[in-house]
Amino acid sequence: MSNDGFTSQNGTGGGTYTNGPLLSPIALQPTTQDFMEGQAGCPTIAQSKAPLTSGTNPSRPYQQATEVSMYQNPSGSSLPVMPPVGPLRPMQPSQPDPNNHRMSMSPPSQSPTTLPVSNSYYQHPQQPTSWQYRGHPQIEAPSSGIQLCPVPSPGPSQVYRMGTATPSSFHSASQSPGHSPTSASGNNLTMPAAAYPLLPGQMSKADGTVYQSLPPGYQSMLGVPKPSPVLLPPQPYSLPSQQYQQPPIGPAQLSSSLAALSLQAQAPEALRVVNLLQERNLLPPGPIPAPTPCLPQDLQKLNCNPEVFRCTLTSIPQTQSLLNKARLPLGLLLHPFKDLSQLPVVTSSSIVRCRSCRTYINPFVSFLDQRRWKCNLCYRVNDVPEEFMYNPVSRSYGEPHKRPEVQNATIEFIAPSEYMLRPPQPAVYLFVLDVSHNAVETGYIDVVCQSLLENLNSLPGDSRTKIGFITFDSMIHFYNLQEGLSQPQMLIVSDTEDIFLPTPDSLLVNLSECKELVQDLLKSLPQMFAKTMETQSALGPALQAAFKLMSPTGGRVSIFQTQLPTLGIGALGSREDPNQRSSAKDVQHLSPATDFYKKLALDCSGQQVAVDLFLLSAQYCDLATLGCISRYSAGSVFFYPSYHNQHTPAQTERFQKDLKRYLTRKIGFEAVMRIRCTKGLSIHTFHGNFFVRSTDLLSLPNINPDAGFAVQMSIEENLLDMQVVSFQAALLYTSSKGERRIRVHTLCLPVVNSISDIFAGADVQAITGLLASMAVDRSVTASLTDARDAMTNAVIDSLTSYRTSVLAIQQPGLLAPACLRLLPLYILGLLKQKAFRTGTSTRLDDRVFAMCQLKCQPLAYLMYLVHPSLYRLDTLINEGPQNIDDHIISQPRVLQLSVEKLIREGVFLMDTGSEFYFWVGRNCNPVFLRQVLGVQSYADVPLNMNHLPELDTAESGRTRAFIGWLREQRPFYSVLHVIGEESPLKSIFMQNMIEDRTESALSYYEFLLHVQQQVSK
Ligand SMILES: [Zn+2]
Repeated sequence: MSNDGFTSQNGTGGGTYTNGPLLSPIALQPTTQDFMEGQAGCPTIAQSKAPLTSGTNPSRPYQQATEVSMYQNPSGSSLPVMPPVGPLRPMQPSQPDPNNHRMSMSPPSQSPTTLPVSNSYYQHPQQPTSWQYRGHPQIEAPSSGIQLCPVPSPGPSQVYRMGTATPSSFHSASQSPGHSPTSASGNNLTMPAAAYPLLPGQMSKADGTVYQSLPPGYQSMLGVPKPSPVLLPPQPYSLPSQQYQQPPIGPAQLSSSLAALSLQAQAPEALRVVNLLQERNLLPPGPIPAPTPCLPQDLQKLNCNPEVFRCTLTSIPQTQSLLNKARLPLGLLLHPFKDLSQLPVVTSSSIVRCRSCRTYINPFVSFLDQRRWKCNLCYRVNDVPEEFMYNPVSRSYGEPHKRPEVQNATIEFIAPSEYMLRPPQPAVYLFVLDVSHNAVETGYIDVVCQSLLENLNSLPGDSRTKIGFITFDSMIHFYNLQEGLSQPQMLIVSDTEDIFLPTPDSLLVNLSECKELVQDLLKSLPQMFAKTMETQSALGPALQAAFKLMSPTGGRVSIFQTQLPTLGIGALGSREDPNQRSSAKDVQHLSPATDFYKKLALDCSGQQVAVDLFLLSAQYCDLATLGCISRYSAGSVFFYPSYHNQHTPAQTERFQKDLKRYLTRKIGFEAVMRIRCTKGLSIHTFHGNFFVRSTDLLSLPNINPDAGFAVQMSIEENLLDMQVVSFQAALLYTSSKGERRIRVHTLCLPVVNSISDIFAGADVQAITGLLASMAVDRSVTASLTDARDAMTNAVIDSLTSYRTSVLAIQQPGLLAPACLRLLPLYILGLLKQKAFRTGTSTRLDDRVFAMCQLKCQPLAYLMYLVHPSLYRLDTLINEGPQNIDDHIISQPRVLQLSVEKLIREGVFLMDTGSEFYFWVGRNCNPVFLRQVLGVQSYADVPLNMNHLPELDTAESGRTRAFIGWLREQRPFYSVLHVIGEESPLKSIFMQNMIEDRTESALSYYEFLLHVQQQVSK
């Protein structure tokens, strides 16, 4: 296998996303149809990342369009034609070490995989044999058939003959024929004030801002309208509004103004030479902000929030060869559905998009005159529709450039009917619970049922919301919750070979109409299986049942699993040898044992069903295989190793908090996300949980606010003559209230043609995040060793390039530009992270879960995993308090992750994202212990303390305020562990001291020496 490329899209199955499953590109009609592709019912299985060269590709309904978009197919050539895999060292004529493993920043090599299509799950409409009434759910296993039980168990003995249950509806994909796109004539723009919560300040910043034609690739357009009444003001791009008819400024002016803007002006700090071997502490005292792209201020003010959308390089190289020379990865990191405190929402009967490439109008388009705008992605000139002339914010006419769409890089549209192929689906939630003996032992069922009871009214949805439950052990138990029943009925299907739905119409019920029955069930479920002795787990058949039940509507399936599935299809055997956990040999079994879960996930994706997996287990569960059910259906994975209600109170607390967040967080259904970029740039590999439906379209049956994505890019055509390029991510989804909505984010970045400018714009956190995703793929497709080498080489390559191509004067030492000074530290953090570490005992599931997190967490959360923050707490009073929302919060500085920084007299907090470690030194001041922990001495610190007592002392208030403030920065809950030097958790704490040497891993300084050796070669 070639070591050049990071290739696979989702990392498993040895598959490669070949950047172009389509032999002919999807042609986009000049309508809104491209988003209709995302509707339910489109056959998708065969459109996996497999390249479909085998001719097995079924015709897709959205391929019928004939008009070819400029963007999709600029040259008439088909998209899959990619440059060959770029060896990463083209600039070095001779590579001394042939075994050097590199991360290819170039498009992946084409390595076709075909995904077998199997619909076997729902092709067996065999009939159940009999129905029996059973008085108690824990009756001995019947040989076949289904039983009908009331829940809970009292009741007379009575046999119901139910006849047959034909799962006839499972085949119908439930989509209705698309509405034909209607013309946008006579559209009224309605913008309710409440739906458009722009602050006055936001509106005013728009005043007078006009964006002129930026890329001179469209020279012919430059001289078109010539009213030109006033001279240009000095700032580029910024014109008073009355100069609206100003013709676009020419490329020469632009160049000079951009040049005047001067990368040099900003560069000095970013490019300041840092000798890593000499400057010991490189950490800034507080959070690290994203670098600001070097754009004219007016343009930058409108740019997308980097927390939502950012690029590894905030200055885009003009050519691929320049990018290759810099040896930095080019890619985007997205957090597209992030909870936002402010989001402009536009209700419009027509949404203005480029007729050619379907880009949504955005702040970075240019208005040639009042009636025409030029697309910033494909440069087509489009007409400004009449209704766009009215500005709902100022309630004035004739100011299209002041419309909210042109003033906000992040905006949401409520989609008109042509964005729908079927009525928006209701919110549908199905909970599938493991009720085997093992599951009951952990006690998790109580927590789930209690949490659901508490949050039932907070589930996102409306009057159409549906809910259902399945439980399983060796059999599958359904629950009839039909309105009118006096109590829930349990229906048991024991034949797990050919799973069918006993009463398809009464298993998913309207939540508001059947709330009492649902509550009854949740109250009785924990007891129903309390005495079960059933140890088997038929997870695969339970998932098939869930798929059948959800297919007609789509929605969210939440699976709770506590052991390896042992029965029926999808049963797994243990693949982990505990003795090998810390061996130096490569880690095996990172890829799935069977493709059952992946195939089922793709079936789910095709029916707009996402599957979220909660894994609670002390034993090996083969997350590498089970996780596929979520990965390809755009679900989430939660993992609670060694979960037990009583024995692991901290885990229980986290599980409870996670459940609350999970049940109540925003959710989007039947979603698709398309990422577009300026002509010349090309997207080639995606990272995250999704299914790639076409070259740039991700199928996301569900989208949630905690999902992150990464995209690798390449430069297909030189970006000569372009000053800026843009990227646009558009997420079409159905809200839980049944509205079709489109959230659009647009990012604009400058193009540069010097390698020092590329380095000056490097975003070290984004680079780390993208490299982490690439390395996860590499671990699966090649090996862990290979991935580790490739990460190290990414550091060596970029610093070598910096030394040879940027530095004018050679100096001794290991030199890095200030903006990349943390790259070696972050990469070392990754090498010591659970996902990639070696030599330390790491359970396979822990490792795989860490890999899942690196692939699908938003960058902000991911950085906690790469480099935890360490603070000293017992000296808080001395550290610059900040007034945050009228609270004084101390802001201790972030310390290096080294035991050097720990002193026995101190108390420290390590923030690893999901956990806080509150480390108490042996010689800590007893006053602090009394005032913060409420104990008299170090010896009295309890071993398993998870909360700080609320004491009425200044120290207690300060400490809790700081920890509380940290918690507020993230939507998930961080469990606190108070640890002393004897604590069992001390080893985990110490493993995070990534600057220190361990038996099997280099210290930071040793790592730097290793890198220096390679760079100096
Ligand atoms: Zn366009």
